[in-house]
Amino acid sequence: MGSLALSRVEALDRPAPSISDEVARIARQELAPLASGIDAGTIYPAELLRSLGKVGAWRSHVPQEGPADLRCAIQSIAALGEVCGATAFMAWCQNTLVWYVANSNNLKLAQRFGDDFSSGARLGGTGLSNPMKTFFGIEKFKLKGRKVEGGYVVKGALPWVSNLGPDHFFGTIFEREDEPGSIVMFLADCADPAVTLQPCKPFLAMDGTGTYGVQFRELFVPDELILATTAAAFVKKIRAGFILLQVGMGLGLIKDCIQIMDEVHPPLGHVNRYLPQQPTQFRELHAEFEKEAMALAADPYNAEDSYWRRVIALRLRLGDASVAAAHAAMLHCGARGYLKSHRAQRRLREAYFVAIVTPATKQLRKMLAGD
Ligand SMILES: Cc1cc2nc3c(=O)[nH]c(=O)nc-3n(C[C@H](O)[C@H](O)[C@H](O)COP(=O)(O)OP(=O)(O)OC[C@H]3O[C@@H](n4cnc5c(N)ncnc54)[C@H](O)[C@@H]3O)c2cc1C
Repeated sequence: MGSLALSRVEALDRPAPSISDEVARIARQELAPLASGIDAGTIYPAELLRSLGKVGAWRSHVPQEGPADLRCAIQSIAALGEVCGATAFMAWCQNTLVWYVANSNNLKLAQRFGDDFSSGARLGGTGLSNPMKTFFGIEKFKLKGRKVEGGYVVKGALPWVSNLGPDHFFGTIFEREDEPGSIVMFLADCADPAVTLQPCKPFLAMDGTGTYGVQFRELFVPDELILATTAAAFVKKIRAGFILLQVGMGLGLIKDCIQIMDEVHPPLGHVNRYLPQQPTQFRELHAEFEKEAMALAADPYNAEDSYWRRVIALRLRLGDASVAAAHAAMLHCGARGYLKSHRAQRRLREAYFVAIVTPATKQLRKMLAGD
């Protein structure tokens, strides 16, 4: 009786778990058993994504009357990434979708979708890879649209969009054929009959992420689904958030690679100490990235060029370090990590995704070069 009363007092004394603590708990208890199925592509974890929404994982970064703070969202994505890179990526997709809606001036759209997306009742993602590459002179817009009464008609195809399903939404951009130079950002409704989701060929990893090729056949996009009629200015506002949220994927992955190296230290430390890269180095790097990410994430609307360059530089270093940490984890594990059943090889495959997802390493280097 005494100890029961005491534990109740202790429970009252303890602060309520933060959103990222709750996300970390779900990651350990519910995501860990699914990770290999998600990796194999046999599971798309829709229910888990909805559960994460219920504990607030998709709403902490919604701006409250002015400033926005991405720190909790990044920490939450990192907690998922520590267990499963594919799920961390889906978390980024969902959080990015919420970010678009929360920053849109289309209040009707924000009212209609804001809560549904941020609560996880509706899932979805983002198709900005092609536009992001186009802004930096790497590709041309794949979607074209023209103004009609009450909206626009859009055609074209995007090769890969993730966290999709038959009732999902995603934000993307088309170029106006009838007004050269104008671009419009909108929400695509996967349930529309003019939208086709095409299954992709198997990937190296990320097969459980609900990734499809998406075709638009003369899709009518009503004004109610327009995120921004002048998408260029809108993208300037959301771009730092778009990139910073990706940092969570790398932070989580690097942390687990350090854990993998630590796990094999007792049996193999006597020989692993000859390897050039040691967990201590990655611990220092992780702490440095986390500190920089938290500083940048507290100020995502900062429009200064020096801030933007810091965001790009951090993102570039994170991609490089993810691959390096996963590579080091493989070397520390030896034959143990070469088993398909060991997560070290999954982490390596996932790490390459951090380095190639838009903005990919090569694009980030181009951006920093100012070309
Ligand atoms: C698993 C996965 C999930 C992704 N999810 C999303 C998402 O949710 N949203 C999003 O916007 N983007 C998504 N992407 C795209 C991703 O962000 C990058 O754009 C992509 O990895 C390529 O980037 P890159 O800069 O290296 O371009 P590159 O690979 O250098 O060039 C890309 C271009 O090359 C061409 N190309 C590439 N592969 C082929 C092929 N097999 N056959 C013919 N042409 C080809 C296409 O024109 C493509 O646009 C996803 C990619 C993958 C692999």
